[in-house]
Amino acid sequence: MKPYLSLSSIQNDLNEGRITCVGLTNHYLKNIDEKKHLNAFVEVYREEALAKAAEVDARISDGTAGRLAGMVIGLKDVLSHKDHGLQGASKILDTFQAQFNATAVQRLLDEDAIVIGRNNCDEFAMGSSNENSAFGPVLNDADNQRVPGGSSGGSAVAVQADMCLVSLGSDTGGSVRQPAAFCGILGLKPTYSRISRHGLIAYGSSFDCIGIFSKTVEDMALVLEIAAGPDEFDSTVSASPVPSYSGSLEKLKGKKYRIACIRETIHTDGLQEEIREATRNTIENLKKNGHEVHEVDFPLLEYLLPTYYILTTAEASSNLSRYDGVKYGYRSPDSGTLETMYKNTRTEGFGEEVKRRIMLGTFVLSASYYDAYYTKAQKARRIIRDRTKKILEEYDFIVLPVTPTTAFQLGAHSADPVEMYLADLFTVQANVTGLPAVSIPNGSDREGLPIGFQVIANDFEEERLLAFSKEIMELE
Ligand code: GLN
Repeated sequence: MKPYLSLSSIQNDLNEGRITCVGLTNHYLKNIDEKKHLNAFVEVYREEALAKAAEVDARISDGTAGRLAGMVIGLKDVLSHKDHGLQGASKILDTFQAQFNATAVQRLLDEDAIVIGRNNCDEFAMGSSNENSAFGPVLNDADNQRVPGGSSGGSAVAVQADMCLVSLGSDTGGSVRQPAAFCGILGLKPTYSRISRHGLIAYGSSFDCIGIFSKTVEDMALVLEIAAGPDEFDSTVSASPVPSYSGSLEKLKGKKYRIACIRETIHTDGLQEEIREATRNTIENLKKNGHEVHEVDFPLLEYLLPTYYILTTAEASSNLSRYDGVKYGYRSPDSGTLETMYKNTRTEGFGEEVKRRIMLGTFVLSASYYDAYYTKAQKARRIIRDRTKKILEEYDFIVLPVTPTTAFQLGAHSADPVEMYLADLFTVQANVTGLPAVSIPNGSDREGLPIGFQVIANDFEEERLLAFSKEIMELE
């Protein structure tokens, strides 16, 4: 079977009787087997996916199939899928089973999506290379010596290597957009609160967003419109109505925009030369298409990472306090007293990066340092948001690279956490501000490694963002 790029081509072939959902699911299962070494899945639901595929085939014949009939998806191991393992790629959730479906997952299931398995990721979504997983690293299908990016590396590779059509990840600081860029596919982080977080394992609750990987903007738009919207289980979710993102793609075609390009991102020394060229080329092509693009200053670039890492580690230290050996998953065998149970369970159950962040977060929240770090970072967050929103008063979009480099070698940054954190330099702005952003494939470097192009839009402007992304995908 040829690799399908979009749900519409799958649905055409299903409707014409050229393929069946069972045949399609077998095709993905075969790819999963053949590319097992990539380690993109921690669990594959072979029998269950085939049984669901047979049900969907029956519904297609009697005309009752949902809108996602024929869409086979992967779920990052941070999303609750009832009666399936859920571990956040951590030993501390060993053997834990989800008790309910995440709202986003439930909505996709209700429209007949088929879940083929759960995807590997960095432990509790902390990382930029997928090397922090209790299940071992994920390899990039473009070059097996290189990382796929993180933390949603398994979800990105699953789509890249044709093991499913679409996957869900989570983006707290770039974990959908950065791996999408490293793997040459599309990645969306919606506006904060656009998709309910109910059933998403919490990392930094005021940043966490469920995001989408796909090969076409149409699929991304459709999945977003189905997953988004009000939800009684998440008090922070937005009540603003969900437009028909998929329907708007054609409607908004041909609109001309004012676009800001952040000067500091293009001129920074740390940017790989080929990414600079690819970004400039795309900007030139946008100008040729009639858009106005201006360079603007954003002198706060150097404050983005410190703000992000202070606030997310603070939130993580609080969120991860629930893993104590009492309630979920792993409990140390050496648990003679309450205190040794807590201590040993957390010492043995968490990996190095997670422990580092819990300690950092506990430190910035401690009584003597709270104002110096946490309060200050909150203020910085407000200033960064105001400054970014100011740009978006004058411009429709902000464009910038997704990452400073293309996919790096496995192990390249393992010894130095700060070096690893620099991989998020261009992605965290959208998370600190809550704005929606997308990573779009933008050619490759001399070694054939994919490059991404990033677009940030104003709050809840996914409709325009996706229509504009489609135009960028179609630039030659
Ligand atoms: N790489 C970033 C981090 O390590 C982003 C993680 C994420 O978005 N979940 O925190």
